[in-house]
Amino acid sequence: MNNLLKFKAPKTLELLKVAIEQIQDWLVITDVDGKILYINKQVERISGYKENEIIGQKPSIWKSGESPQETYTVLWDTILSGRPFYKVIANRHKNGGIFYLANTISPVSDKNGEIQYFVSTAKDITQNYELEKQLHDVIHYDSLTQLPNRRSFISEIQEIVCGTKKSAILAISMNKLSLVNNTYGFTYGDRVIKKIAKRIESVLDETHVLARIENHVFAILVPEFKSLSGLVSLINKIEKVVGDPIILKGQELYIELSTGVGVYPSDATGGIKLLARAQTALAQVQSTHNLHKYVFYTQQMNTEAQMQLHLENDIYRAYENNEFIPYFQPVMNIKDGNICGLEALMRRENSLGEIILPTEFIGMLERMGLIEKVELRFIKKVCDQIRKWIDSGLKVVPVAINISPLQFGDKNLAKKIVKIVNEVGIPSELITIEIVESMFMEDLELAKSILKELKDEGFLIAIDDFGTGYSSLSYLKEFNADHLKIDMSFIKELLISKGDQAIVKAIVAIAQALEMKTVAEGIETIEQLELIAKLGCDIGQGHYWDIPLSAEEIASKYLQKAR
Ligand code: C2E
Ligand code: CA
Ligand code: CA
Repeated sequence: MNNLLKFKAPKTLELLKVAIEQIQDWLVITDVDGKILYINKQVERISGYKENEIIGQKPSIWKSGESPQETYTVLWDTILSGRPFYKVIANRHKNGGIFYLANTISPVSDKNGEIQYFVSTAKDITQNYELEKQLHDVIHYDSLTQLPNRRSFISEIQEIVCGTKKSAILAISMNKLSLVNNTYGFTYGDRVIKKIAKRIESVLDETHVLARIENHVFAILVPEFKSLSGLVSLINKIEKVVGDPIILKGQELYIELSTGVGVYPSDATGGIKLLARAQTALAQVQSTHNLHKYVFYTQQMNTEAQMQLHLENDIYRAYENNEFIPYFQPVMNIKDGNICGLEALMRRENSLGEIILPTEFIGMLERMGLIEKVELRFIKKVCDQIRKWIDSGLKVVPVAINISPLQFGDKNLAKKIVKIVNEVGIPSELITIEIVESMFMEDLELAKSILKELKDEGFLIAIDDFGTGYSSLSYLKEFNADHLKIDMSFIKELLISKGDQAIVKAIVAIAQALEMKTVAEGIETIEQLELIAKLGCDIGQGHYWDIPLSAEEIASKYLQKAR
């Protein structure tokens, strides 16, 4: 202090300037409009810009977009009112990186209290920020695989595992890892873990959460699943990719997995418990020399999963053996009592010659992703049958074929159907495409364009199970269908239910307005038929006439010789 006092005024200024240049902090002086008049050396160092690039500019050249706009509004409000402003602000370096400044911006006023300048002094705290981020990563991520660790997995699953959705946690252990560590050392053990993490990731989708929760244990959250067999097939997929040999020092190494599965909500009511269940199940696989490499927490789930797998295998075999065949039910003109169509209904004829109903397998085919292949083959079989009838001199009526809503997601559907019909060589007017109205909810525009294509090709269109699903009148009009099939549930108690009678009457009126014919399904008695006729339905189908019959039976009972 004493030394300082020795300097005369000009020297003091000189000294101040030297000091300002030397300090490690950022210093910027602007005029009232924010135009930069002065910077010290540190500003160049911290921001990467040279003095000549900065002077005359505004501090917004460092704006990063990372600090909210509100920060800047408050900043200006504060300093323009004569008060200093403190805040950590994220700025952008000339090279694009971010630097963080703990900023103090003070207004400098003249004798009259008019603000003349703003002085911004700041500390560069970028390193602290980065340390903090690294710390965050260490706390939440596994440094080897970069996957979430146990802690962050738990916090994530607590949010996701809730509500009515069925979810599951798989705890997956790598079995021979300690052997790798003992034989080759930990560096190689680590490589193997990284490789396995990558392989597991490759079969997951973005909804799954993969974490490494212990040295040799991964966990996967499956936030929503439809069937236990779906979970099992995911486990199988993981086992398969991980099971490929890993080459270590020229040796082939095979890693086996054990998996424990916990299912929400049956095994546990929350995320943490569910993880514990999965780990208990895992311990069980490891302790017993289990036949399967995976185990569900509850025995019942094990049994169910086995059963579903068994069923799926069975259906798959049916598909491979081409066991799906058409049966035909007559469709009758109510006004004149003549046959006016057939509906082809799928049956499975198994190796024992038993006939199995579609309710037993259609849903499964859809879930297994086989429905498209099976239905296209089915269409071919129906067309072949029609061809045979024509060739043997029978008069054929239009045959309705049910198409799964899932197929209406395929923009080439119409072309595929047209191709089959052309190859077999029958007129498209002999095929009615039946669709259930629930499908209209999916990709509506696509469904519409497929139907239009089919219609333009000459096919008839029928809307099936009308009244049960999502009945949208506006779409009904746009679909341009020929037939509206009133769902059986309205016919069942038609005689005693005034409500059902009113519904049928309304559907008939709608159909008439849209120039469609109505088909009443499930007519079993003469009384139902008489009432249906009175309500104005055009066409009927049901056990009153016949059940679905084999191709031979339907031909001999219903198809006449063409004249
Ligand atoms: P659906 O298209 O509504 O077919 C009518 C169902 O009602 C048939 O059952 C038929 O046997 C039955 N039925 C007809 N008249 C009567 C009656 O008077 N009383 C009673 N109680 N039932 C009657 P089915 O053949 O078991 O077919 C069930 C469902 O399986 C079909 O309902 C259809 O949704 C589906 N399905 C059948 N074949 C195919 C196919 O090739 N593809 C697709 N996606 N679904 C199919
Ligand atoms: Ca149908
Ligand atoms: Ca129906």
